[in-house]
Amino acid sequence: MSSNADIYHEIIVDYSRNPINFGKIENHDVTFHDSNPLCGDSIDIDMKIDENKVTDIKFHGRGCAICMACSSVLTEITKGKSLDDVRKIEKNDVLSELGLEHLQAVRIKCALLSLKVLKSALYTYLGKHMDDSQDMDKLKDEAASLY
Ligand SMILES: [Zn+2]
Repeated sequence: MSSNADIYHEIIVDYSRNPINFGKIENHDVTFHDSNPLCGDSIDIDMKIDENKVTDIKFHGRGCAICMACSSVLTEITKGKSLDDVRKIEKNDVLSELGLEHLQAVRIKCALLSLKVLKSALYTYLGKHMDDSQDMDKLKDEAASLY
């Protein structure tokens, strides 16, 4: 019998070999890049946004298994959501999908890099389309306080 940890490990390896939503969107509405120099993870997220909904999302770059798996899960969660709902995505929404809630601090940046990039892309987009600067500051804090 395999334990939960084994099952999650398998899921992570599987996602890292066959990432979901991996690639580029040529005519994206917003794109953002960030990296985690501690591990060498480096990813870009492209999004297509229509009527305040994420109609398409893809990521590209390279990363360790945890980074690739979390990017896959995150883009799956995000696709089709309204921008308000994307804003509400929290780290545990991604971590719990992969059984990573208790990840050591040193790997947490691998797991949450994609969420940071997503939130940064979101505020980049909203910054161009919204004029409430207080709201913008809140968004930036949200992105900065992830880890
Ligand atoms: Zn990593």
